[in-house]
Amino acid sequence: MSHLDATHNPALRSWVQGADGHPDFPIQNLPHGVFSPPAGGGPRGGVAIGDSILDLKAALSAGLLQGEAAEAAAAPSLNAFFALGAAPRRALRQRLSAMLEEGSADRGAASACLHQAADCTLHMPAHIGDYTDFYVGIHHATNIGKVFRPDNPLLPNYKYVPIGYHGRASSVRPSGTDVRRPKGQLKAADADVPRFAPCERLDYELELGIWIGPGNRLGESIPVGQAEAHVAGYCLLNDWSARDIQAWEYQPLGPFLAKNFGSTISPWVVTPEALAPFRIAQPSRPQGDPAPLPYLLDEADQRHGAFDLGLEVLILTPAMRQQGLAPHRLSLSNARYMYWTVAQMVAHHTSGGCDLNPGDLLGSGTISAPDDSGFGSLLETTKGGKQPIALPNGENRRFLEDGDEVILRVRAAREGAVSIGFGDCRAKVLPAA
Ligand code: MN
Repeated sequence: MSHLDATHNPALRSWVQGADGHPDFPIQNLPHGVFSPPAGGGPRGGVAIGDSILDLKAALSAGLLQGEAAEAAAAPSLNAFFALGAAPRRALRQRLSAMLEEGSADRGAASACLHQAADCTLHMPAHIGDYTDFYVGIHHATNIGKVFRPDNPLLPNYKYVPIGYHGRASSVRPSGTDVRRPKGQLKAADADVPRFAPCERLDYELELGIWIGPGNRLGESIPVGQAEAHVAGYCLLNDWSARDIQAWEYQPLGPFLAKNFGSTISPWVVTPEALAPFRIAQPSRPQGDPAPLPYLLDEADQRHGAFDLGLEVLILTPAMRQQGLAPHRLSLSNARYMYWTVAQMVAHHTSGGCDLNPGDLLGSGTISAPDDSGFGSLLETTKGGKQPIALPNGENRRFLEDGDEVILRVRAAREGAVSIGFGDCRAKVLPAA
């Protein structure tokens, strides 16, 4: 499952300037994406290396790459590449690593296929057919539950069911696309009737995104022990949330307009291979918690189905931007605080026969740390807006204001491995229309 090979070697160096020591994209990462080069020619697949992008279409034309996987990875949408599964993806990774490593004979030809990432436009990496958002961050679920049920924050199903809801694929956008503050029905606690107005409690949610690779047929479930083979890669996901709209509309069928006005993803698809060094055992459940039902329990998945990934949220307000200040870190969480593994999410999603397709996107749900240094939403950090957070320049925030930019980042670091990141997942709040 999480085997390491020569592409993970921490001693591996790249001839691409700025790749060695790059916080996100050293040669050990090699994430896939879709971009447009500055000179035109349209969207095509690429691989991030340092501050550059390797143009896979150009690499194919130059004869540096060949075969079905390379062609699918060079396309303007990665759905077909996702559908191929792990073996061709791994073989392509090995070829790319050999091409980009120090001393490679391909250096001359490959360097002609590089673009400065800053000059390129990143696009959605795949067409998302369906998007499902889970709720596996147990500290988040507990914090939110406490607001409603102080004595009994988690509902009785939480430790049996990987809870989720079907989200909206049409409004998912890549990092850098502004998000407009939604208008909707708001009902103050002391009001008899709602009014229609711009959201006053706009929030972010720090989540991991999971790209589905090979799908399953309708009516055929994916066993938990095989579920990893159906994952094509990972990204960051900001599930922007209008808390006031949510509070009024969510009963009895769950989130609706509070969550469908925009979701932001980091545009690079970080492969399961790149994350192999950061696998950990699923943290053991607290004493007294039930064991997962057999269809959600796989021994290998329990042994290394979780991730040790540092997850950051930062904010940059218009005043901070004007003052030339760097983004301020609001929290530091970790993917290890997921109560269910990705394999359990995939197995559960398909357990009743629902078909997943290449390019479907799953959200983990907000991942909060156990304490307030790492809460994944403002709703938690500010206790529902009651305790504003102080920013270093003297500003306060209860919820997001117009012009605020929220930045999500991953820092994967482990002894004996080169650390990698996902690239930014960032977007600015536009005023309501
Ligand atoms: Mn969410």
